[in-house]
Amino acid sequence: MLELQNVNAYYGSIHALRDVSLKIEAGEIVTLIGANGAGKSTTLMAICGIMPVQSGKILFRGEEIQSMRPENIVSLGLCQVPEGRHIFPELTVRENLDMGAFLRRDKSGIKKDLDHVYSLFPILEKRRNQPGSNLSGGEQQMLAMSRALMARPQLLLLDEPSMGLAPLVIQQVFDIIERINRESDTTVFLVEQNANQALRIANRGYVIENGEIVLSDSGDKLLNNPDVQKAYLGI
Ligand code: ATP
Repeated sequence: MLELQNVNAYYGSIHALRDVSLKIEAGEIVTLIGANGAGKSTTLMAICGIMPVQSGKILFRGEEIQSMRPENIVSLGLCQVPEGRHIFPELTVRENLDMGAFLRRDKSGIKKDLDHVYSLFPILEKRRNQPGSNLSGGEQQMLAMSRALMARPQLLLLDEPSMGLAPLVIQQVFDIIERINRESDTTVFLVEQNANQALRIANRGYVIENGEIVLSDSGDKLLNNPDVQKAYLGI
């Protein structure tokens, strides 16, 4: 579904992505783990067309997207939930969800997806008329994920969905990611510092250090890899 081939990207003189290559097959949950500043968010921004790619290719379902505008990439079926969530605080929950469907014209499909989102997150239905700013951090994360789902993406990109959330809420968020993958037939690319939880739900994972992919394997194997355990799992 998605393939990065030797992608390089820079912030001025900082070489933030160094020949990054990775692959995501349809139906998978794939995670990218790494420390602070390793290049995880930059990878997602490059995929979404927000970070210019200096060299290399990004293919979405076989089509080159590395030079496309972000809104055109979204309309191909690829949608990102950014780090820090960025919901519209003054709009109601329902209005935030409507914004997710902004590019769609299929009214009955939108209604069906709204019902689906409410079934995944009943709290959002309860709070549908409240402004986004009234929601807790966990609820805002759920709203941001739901808003992305309203675009009916084939590939959902999640940037640190567990950041700043209480442990119980983190567990809920990861459970929901698994359900979205299973029930909505949505492929997931999950960027996380919470390597333990991310690897538990992922089919496969990549490890990024200083802008370079240094390791890739199945989620299970990475969880049991002594180097990964030492560097990222605190074992
Ligand atoms: P975090 O978990 O802290 O978000 P990350 O793995 O997502 O980290 P990136 O945000 O992708 O890392 O950063 C990769 C590198 O690029 C780091 O060295 C960072 O300092 C640098 N960087 C990120 N954003 C900018 C920017 N706007 N201007 C200059 N350098 C940047």
